[in-house]
Formats: sequence, structure tokens, C-alpha cells
Amino acid sequence: MTQGFVLAIHGGAGVLPRHDMTPEREAACHAALARVLRAGEEVLKANGAALDAVTAAVSTLENEPLFNAGRGAVFTREGTHEMDAAIMDGRNRRAGAVAGISGVRNPVHLARAVMERTDHILMIGEGAMTIARDAGLAFEDDDYFFTQERWDSLQQTLHMEAEGTLDDDPSRRHGTVGAVALDRAGNLAAATSTGGMTAKRVGRVGDSPIIGAGTFADNATCAVSATGDGEAFMRCVVAHEIDARMRHAGQSLAGAAEQVVRADLAAYEGSGGLIAIDCDGHVVMPFNCEGMYRGSVRDGEAVQTAIYD
Ligand code: ASP
Repeated sequence: MTQGFVLAIHGGAGVLPRHDMTPEREAACHAALARVLRAGEEVLKANGAALDAVTAAVSTLENEPLFNAGRGAVFTREGTHEMDAAIMDGRNRRAGAVAGISGVRNPVHLARAVMERTDHILMIGEGAMTIARDAGLAFEDDDYFFTQERWDSLQQTLHMEAEGTLDDDPSRRHGTVGAVALDRAGNLAAATSTGGMTAKRVGRVGDSPIIGAGTFADNATCAVSATGDGEAFMRCVVAHEIDARMRHAGQSLAGAAEQVVRADLAAYEGSGGLIAIDCDGHVVMPFNCEGMYRGSVRDGEAVQTAIYD
């Protein structure tokens, strides 16, 4: 089967509130999203695999300090970085994921190495680091992962906690990056990467590396990458719930995603959104908050990017 490719990406639902967004910052975000789409598009245009396209897109997002993953990862409450990532191949449901890792430039590459080099799916700690070294992945020091903006968010969050004035401003608290793709051979893939939540406890793991919660792909239904309050996304098992609604209840991608984002998550006060593609190339990008950095590109068409409604 040959069909047109589709790629969708997100840079997280932790967008700056409209009133804080400057025209310069907005333009920089759109430009970064377009660069990421082109990195994935290049793979798909050359008849590359969806798995390679989501790897290229997510690693490019990880290299952008604007988004909460890789270089721009948020700080734990101890002032450290602990990153989570996952990747899943819709052809066979093979998956790889890592949680709480530090120092690896592109956590999505490590998730993929777990998938390709081990019999396991989710790895942490020294075992994950050994795979990173064996796979020859790039490491970076603390300076690489330091961004003033994320540091200021940590200080502000800790201060607000101490004062008892903590709110849930998504731009200060969280963010994530992700990609979903359908290639010309009809295969789906998904990948997600995150620094997690600002001021999270050391050792906290979110939904992004949990297969079925923040990341999922199956050629028979859809590929999904989520962003938002990780605890709520895990309780709703968001990505797999969309797959299950399509598979068991015959719902469309749009119907299933809408139900999960607007109704299921709301019941657990889960703010955020997701991107998803079905096996026919339909794309949805619903969110239940102020915005979500996002974009998509279809075979032969121009890239599209958006932040707010
Ligand atoms: N879902 C991520 C986490 O809980 C954060 C986010 O997407 O905003 O770690």
C-alpha cells in the first residue's frame, strides 16, 4: 500500500498565557515548530519509516530550549534534571521507554535503544545509563541543561509553595514534546519526551514514558502522544483509552479523543491535550487548556503550526 504521509508534533500544553506572550516569543515558537516538522518531513519524503520520523522530530524538539524536554527540561525541587521518554512502533507494538534519566542529550534516542537493544520496555537508573553508553549516545553536562527561564520557574514555584500561593499556571509547571506519524507504507509510530513537572519530587515519573498513558501506537487504530497533568493522564490511561474506544466501540479518532480530553480528563481535573493520527491519516490535536504548541504536515502540503485556539 502506498499513501501520503502525515506527521503531527507538539511542544506541550504548558503554553504561556496569551497576556504574557510577546510577538517575538510567539514567532520563535512557530519557527521552532516549523523546523521540527521539516526534520520529520525530510525522513517521510524519502520514504522513511514513521518510527524514524518521530525520532527525528522529537530529538529536534529536545534540542530546542523553548520546550520542556532535553535541553529545556524543567528542574526537580532539588535543582536537578530527571527526564522521561518513550517511543512505540505501530507495526508490532514494540516499545521502549526510560524514566528519571539525566545527562543524555536526547532521551528519545535512549528510549529507542531500550526498544532495539533489550527485551525490556521501561528502564531506569544505572541500567538505562549502561544502554546509553553501549549505544554510543551523546551526553551533556549540567550547563547544557541549564536554562534561566526554567531555573526562575523553579524558584518561583518553591517560593509560592512556601507562601501557600501556589497556582497551576501551566507555563511555569509543565510541558512535554511529542510526535506521531503515518508513513507512506501505512505504518504508525509515536514518541514523547519530557522534563516532567517543575519542582517535582526526585523520583517522580509522569505519564510520558508509560506505554498506554502518554504514548501509544498500533497500526490498527492510532498513534498518540500526550501532554498535561501526568497523574491524571495515568489515571485515565489516556492514549490506550483512545485506542480501545476505536477498537472495541468503533469510534472515530476524533470522537474517541474528544471524549477522553473533554470528559474523562475533566473528571480528574486533568488539564492538557494530545496529538493523534489514525491509520487513515486523520489528525486530531485536542486540548482542554489555553493552548498547546503544535503543528502538522501532510505529504505535498505546507507545514502548519499553532499555539492557541
Ligand atoms: N505530562 C508531563 C508529565 O506529567 C508534563 C506535561 O506534559 O506537561 O510529566
